[in-house]
Amino acid sequence: MSDGFVSLVGAGPGDPGLLTVKGMQRLQAADVVLYDRLLDPALLDYVPATAERIYVGKQASRHALSQREINDLLVARGLAGKRVVRLKGGDPFVFGRGGEELEVLQQAGVAFEVVSGVTSSIAAAAYAGIPITHRGHTSAFTVVTGHEDPTKPDSSLRWEHLAQGAGTLVFLMGVENLEGIVARLVEHGRSAETPVALVRRGTWADQEVVAGTLGSIVQQIAERDFPSPAVIVVGDVVRLRDRLRWWDVRPLFGKRIVVTRAREQASELAAHLSALGAEVIEAPAIDIAEPESFAGMDAVLSDLGRYGWVVFTSANGVAGLFARLQALGSDARRLGGVRVAAVGPGTAAALSRWGITADFVPERALTAEVAKGLIAKGMAGLRVLLPRTDIVGEDLAGLLAAAGASVDQVVAYRTLMPEGLDPEVEALLRHGRVDIITFASASTVRNLCGLLGNGAAEVIGRSTVVTIGPITSQAARDLGVRIDAEATDHTVPGLVQAVLRAAGPIAHASRS
Ligand code: SAH
Repeated sequence: MSDGFVSLVGAGPGDPGLLTVKGMQRLQAADVVLYDRLLDPALLDYVPATAERIYVGKQASRHALSQREINDLLVARGLAGKRVVRLKGGDPFVFGRGGEELEVLQQAGVAFEVVSGVTSSIAAAAYAGIPITHRGHTSAFTVVTGHEDPTKPDSSLRWEHLAQGAGTLVFLMGVENLEGIVARLVEHGRSAETPVALVRRGTWADQEVVAGTLGSIVQQIAERDFPSPAVIVVGDVVRLRDRLRWWDVRPLFGKRIVVTRAREQASELAAHLSALGAEVIEAPAIDIAEPESFAGMDAVLSDLGRYGWVVFTSANGVAGLFARLQALGSDARRLGGVRVAAVGPGTAAALSRWGITADFVPERALTAEVAKGLIAKGMAGLRVLLPRTDIVGEDLAGLLAAAGASVDQVVAYRTLMPEGLDPEVEALLRHGRVDIITFASASTVRNLCGLLGNGAAEVIGRSTVVTIGPITSQAARDLGVRIDAEATDHTVPGLVQAVLRAAGPIAHASRS
């Protein structure tokens, strides 16, 4: 027996949140991961960067391994003493050939375990608003392979039992054989009135559901493009979808939204949008970097106490300044009695992470409003520090100086244009396959235009454009970009509200 160990892990049906805690822990500890197609790439974020990742999926366009090759790899890595994760869609034992893989490991003397997963046969229905059992409708369900050609005379399926049994039927791998499956069920006595739903890409942001009856469904599917993977759910419980739909009626469901914020900052906006049902694509148009030199910052940090106010116009400025203080072996106590202003709630939240409660945050998150508020408090004779980016924005320093302050500006971080866009994201933008693009700062607009090159404004114009506020909108207009909606509240939640307004009512009547 080697010390190697293989975990056969169910990845769930699609929604990355449906991975189990144990599955996540196994990924985090893996030396080697063998994964199938159709899995959300986000699941691989749990895997250590040093681990070996082997794609084994069966997709025509990409190299795939045969079952034999997969088995050999599992045994070889196991015998080599590795912690191996075999990650499979749904539950590993529901039509996943998981049992076969374990038999091979057992024969080779490699230790193994099974980490069960959420199976699509239940979850795809659940995300379509169909409870697989329900006290008032059915107390049994049967999961059936739809892979077998139902017209085969030697079918191993007992169609008369399936057709006449009381329970809900769920066919996996059955889209290609839909017509035969429906024919067999009706032929063996299921009423043509029996409700049926096909759920494709269940639990994903682009889930699609077509509901009808055994009498109508073949025609309904023939009328549209409906590639697998999909489950076929047959039974009275399908009717409950009308009342219990929840996943595909969220306000941004079916919308593909690009978030252009820096990777470090994108998560809050992305989380809000995906909770509302959107398919969020991160396309960072800025990289945040340290200043080229810390000389300027170190000079002001050595004598912070002389300032009357430190005014932060972004969360990045907060992070830059306090990270430097920490690197110098100091902390927020250096601020002593210095008062602190934040442009908006996001910046104030960043301050509170360093233990600082802002003394002033304007009602509206605009630099002009910070200036107005501070000037009203009296700026004459005060020293003011503005930690900011290397790109000069609007003239906050000028306004405060005009009111009598002596203003020092210091570069706390730099905003850089990333080297390029992810080619897949760029293709989606160019082909007009993005519904909404969000911009949360002027530099994201400028950089996205720079990254797209000639004709950028026209490419961006193929999507609905939503900005966080007037400064960002102006930067966009200067580059010829049309603005479709602007946040009235210039914060991340405000931007989300503007996206909701721009998205309008959900428009997928066809996804009945
Ligand atoms: N072990 C998997 C099933 C593997 S067989 C599980 O437990 O879910 C592959 C079939 O599963 C597909 O042909 C399709 O019928 C179904 N399937 C997998 N993921 C699905 C999804 N997200 N939505 C609908 N069907 C899915």
